[in-house]
Amino acid sequence: MIERKEFLRRSGHALGLGVLVSISARLLMKPSDDADFIAQGRRFAWQIDPDKCQSCGLCATSCVRKPSAVKAVNDPKKCSNCVVCYGHITDSKIDSDQIDTAGERVCPVDAVSRKNFSGGVDGMFLYSNDPKRCIGCGRCTKRCNEHGSQSMFLMIRPDLCLGCNECTIAIACPHDAIERVPRESVDDYRGDYTFDTSDFYYDMEEDA
Ligand code: SF4
Ligand code: SF4
Ligand code: SF4
Repeated sequence: MIERKEFLRRSGHALGLGVLVSISARLLMKPSDDADFIAQGRRFAWQIDPDKCQSCGLCATSCVRKPSAVKAVNDPKKCSNCVVCYGHITDSKIDSDQIDTAGERVCPVDAVSRKNFSGGVDGMFLYSNDPKRCIGCGRCTKRCNEHGSQSMFLMIRPDLCLGCNECTIAIACPHDAIERVPRESVDDYRGDYTFDTSDFYYDMEEDA
């Protein structure tokens, strides 16, 4: 007959083994097999419909993140590489050799910059929006969409967005332009192209 002390010791081992097996089984379960295990924010992303967005300015102030998770981006496939960019300078009649020194900037934080890549002051220019400075106010995108080639647009950066259950910008947006979209590994959130948006990303950790 097993002594009471030995019985309790063996029971303890059996119980410990059972707990261990149970924990191991949970850890080994593939989360992707069970939709309930995947956080909403990882399967979906809040994003701006560029056809509805009117660059009203609320994206800069309505996001729970300060500065906003919304950033302006310039699509190089649509940009006309103008000498005078509507999203860059307010005066479209300015002399081309005055732009860099005297041109009044559209962006309140001077986040829109250009690089000459051919033809001197009247050549072709590459325009970009610095995400480290951009606050998502939409001034550049508004002007580019009203007067230019509509290459600048606002996007909610998936790596900056907190994936709130209720996006406060979506609630505030007067044009119903923000919706939840299924998230893909590489997606420019416009549906037109598949260029790699990692060019526009920067590492927040580096700035910490
Ligand atoms: S609140 Fe709506 S319309 Fe205004 S800038 Fe944001 S997405 Fe565009
Ligand atoms: S004008 Fe506004 S949206 Fe455009 S780059 Fe500057 S801060 Fe960003
Ligand atoms: S979900 Fe939250 S963090 Fe993301 S854009 Fe909306 S308010 Fe900002």
